[in-house]
Amino acid sequence: MRVLVVNPGSATLKCGLYQVSGPSVTALWTGVVDRVGTDTAVFRWQSGATSGQTEVIAGDVSAALHQVLDSPGLTDGPDAAGCRVVHGGERFTAPILVDAGVVEAIRALGVLAPLHNPVSADVLQTIQDRLPDRPIVAVFDTAFHRTLPPVARAYALPYTLMEQHGLWRYGFHGIAHRNVMEQLRAHRQACPARLITCHLGNGASVCAQRDGRSVETSMGLTPMEGLMMGTRSGDVDPGLVLHLQRAVGMSSAEVETLLNRESGLRGVSGVSNDLRDLERAAGAGDVRAELAMQMFAYRAAKAIAAHTVALGGVDAITFSGGIGENSATMRARVGELLAFLGVELDAGRNQQDDGARVRRISTDASHVEVYVVRVDENAQVAQETVRLLASSTAEV
Ligand code: AMP
Repeated sequence: MRVLVVNPGSATLKCGLYQVSGPSVTALWTGVVDRVGTDTAVFRWQSGATSGQTEVIAGDVSAALHQVLDSPGLTDGPDAAGCRVVHGGERFTAPILVDAGVVEAIRALGVLAPLHNPVSADVLQTIQDRLPDRPIVAVFDTAFHRTLPPVARAYALPYTLMEQHGLWRYGFHGIAHRNVMEQLRAHRQACPARLITCHLGNGASVCAQRDGRSVETSMGLTPMEGLMMGTRSGDVDPGLVLHLQRAVGMSSAEVETLLNRESGLRGVSGVSNDLRDLERAAGAGDVRAELAMQMFAYRAAKAIAAHTVALGGVDAITFSGGIGENSATMRARVGELLAFLGVELDAGRNQQDDGARVRRISTDASHVEVYVVRVDENAQVAQETVRLLASSTAEV
């Protein structure tokens, strides 16, 4: 089956056409539109050895999708479409076949994910308009964490308030955490019983998995909780938010911008949210760029250590995401901080990237296996789309 995968962000649109045959997923065509909503939006695509790049005028992500769907590489058309949706709330705990009611329910969940869900709802509507006779499946980033036990899912708030407003720790990056686990399971021919997946990119989160099921994760009601990220603060004292409003006089919108867009690596370093810029700056003696990287590693290691509580220890740890996959230095920093858990990285294996999707970077003697896994969210969405369609066909 050929599946069109649409992965919308707030200012980017990633797409792909995938051939799914059993467990194998092959990318036939991939495309990305960056800087949507600016004058410099650009659409890059690749199909086999052929690639191209054009400037596009796209006021929003749906407009960008219209242009993508006009691409010659997609003319043969997909059999189905799958779309990544960030927040499924309490209602969507598994992939679902999209109809008008589902689109509106996803839009309504914009209360919990204002930057993402309205965009997803618009994108789903666009796909419906453009592919009216094809099945469309929504795959949720929160769904993998539906197995969080009550102790991990609740905040220490009045329980009735949480029930009334759905104030649960939903967790995010679920498509990525699941994809990493499935790739590692295929590579090792068995899933580690106690696995911690560590996704380090512009957004970052950790997930504790027992036998491949999420039992704890670092993000909560929103994708702001947990690790230090590119521009997000991660965990702060809730009293700090009140202090900024009361004593510093910031509005709630200003605090949101501060914690979402001006903090993290960018905020501490004052240089950039891109780790490559920080590595360069620190190399040239920038003290705050060095501090930002130390904090990023320290907080990631603290979160990994905390997640061992959910599992009673840890058998394997994975690194994924732009930073986790590409920065041997950051992996080494995190690994050193976790030496007390029995983590021992092999410096050579950590440095050498042979291009494998899954590679082990711990020593043979390490008590904990450590891997780098090249995550593929789009392939996961394609796979889950086909699984749902196969099961709904079987039920008929
Ligand atoms: P992601 O959000 O997963 O695409 O990750 C984006 C982040 O990955 C960027 O902000 C960079 O900081 C980081 N990154 C990408 N490539 C490299 C690299 N070669 N070395 C260090 N960091 C990288």
